[in-house]
Amino acid sequence: MILPTAYRNKQVAVVGLARSGLVAAEALARAGAIVCAWDDTPAARDAALAIGIPLTPVVAMPWAELSALILSPGIPHSYPKPHPAADLARGADVPILVDVDLLLSTQTAAPVIAITGTNGKSTTTALIHHIFTEAGRIVSMGGNIGVAALTLPAYGAEGTYVLELSSYQLERVPSLSAQTAILLNITADHLDRHGGMDGYIQAKSLVFQHQGETDWAIVGMDDAPSRSLADKLVRGERAPRIVPISVLAPVAGGVYALDGHLIDDLDGAAVEVLSLDRAARLPGRHNAQNICAAYAAARHAGLAPAEICAAITRFPGLAHRQELVGSVRGVAYINDSKATNADAAERALVCYPAIHWILGGVAKSGGIDALVAHFPRVCGAYLIGEASEAFAETLSHSGITPQLCGTLDVALRAAMAAAKPGDIVLLSPACASFDQYKSFEHRGDHFRDLVRALSEGEDAQ
Ligand code: ADP
Repeated sequence: MILPTAYRNKQVAVVGLARSGLVAAEALARAGAIVCAWDDTPAARDAALAIGIPLTPVVAMPWAELSALILSPGIPHSYPKPHPAADLARGADVPILVDVDLLLSTQTAAPVIAITGTNGKSTTTALIHHIFTEAGRIVSMGGNIGVAALTLPAYGAEGTYVLELSSYQLERVPSLSAQTAILLNITADHLDRHGGMDGYIQAKSLVFQHQGETDWAIVGMDDAPSRSLADKLVRGERAPRIVPISVLAPVAGGVYALDGHLIDDLDGAAVEVLSLDRAARLPGRHNAQNICAAYAAARHAGLAPAEICAAITRFPGLAHRQELVGSVRGVAYINDSKATNADAAERALVCYPAIHWILGGVAKSGGIDALVAHFPRVCGAYLIGEASEAFAETLSHSGITPQLCGTLDVALRAAMAAAKPGDIVLLSPACASFDQYKSFEHRGDHFRDLVRALSEGEDAQ
């Protein structure tokens, strides 16, 4: 555990005691800080008490004496409505931070690769971590990817932190100064938390804060907000090197993917470095964008093109994002439980020609209407959860007769019985999971377990 020793003998508030907040409270206490901790939910308060963290209601905290408020990224500090702790902190001029800032202000010698974007953050973070690990570098990843920042090992200049940062976190990491900062893409999301699109773009731009001339700003050029941020950066004083990436067009001085090839133009000459079909666990154009970003980050760290590409081809993929969970009698089973809306499901549907599609759950507005163009790839549809009837109607209008399966177990058995060698059985629900599961991870884990259990039965027959 990293101990934020700069806060020794100082009073610090920690509000929000889920995993990363709890670790922060414990690390601060062990570093000799005087911690005032609180969470609005009783269960989280009990967890804090159980590890000896005393509780102080937010209104009773000594705001005039506090050096910082560590506010969980999930708790708003301005929009749609600030938490009372944020109002009190602002009133007393107390900086509002997240745990990642405690890491960065303590481990100042280690190079940092910071990754943000509306989509693809976790994949890119994990891919960079994988490439560095294969190259024998000392590296660890954390932040929004689900690893609390202060649980990472302490590094001097020899180790690299690869940090996934959401827009919520970026607004609270004033110590961030990344040698490599990546902005993958910006599309409308979380706008209620940022007071609109301008606020969201502003939050994303903070990934480049404090960068200097020797640093790299790797920016996706395929959407207008990201392009305009790159433009602004170029015009700034002591601008970092802007490294453009694209999956739509060549970008001079950058990295791009065209016609199934990864092209390195970092040294001013376009060199084809990888055939993307070799990156089997990173299918689709969206993943090509993640590959471009990770490749550029690895080049900035001095890795050679050949070793980077070899590592990319060996990337095992991330759980729940088009994760290959089994292969039985020529049928591949793919867990894409992270696809909680139609947009995300579309990214999987375009990757495969013959799909037995398991979908449903709690539908988002618009349902699966936007996916009709991809229905010719669907050999069978197996519906689960609340959205079943509405989705059945959309599918039937396009000539697909779906099976109303109710549960994942029934859906998988039906898909398994119908699939022929060469087909794909794909869980890409286009829905939230909360009608039947705790989370998309819980749903995906269940799918993986079911596939394993059923495929053992199949093999034995
Ligand atoms: P994040 O961490 O930003 O939520 P993930 O890497 O977990 O992103 O990917 C989540 C989903 O987003 C994937 O299953 C895929 O559908 C989609 N996705 C991944 N990378 C990209 C990208 N570069 N552009 C657009 N969509 C993407």
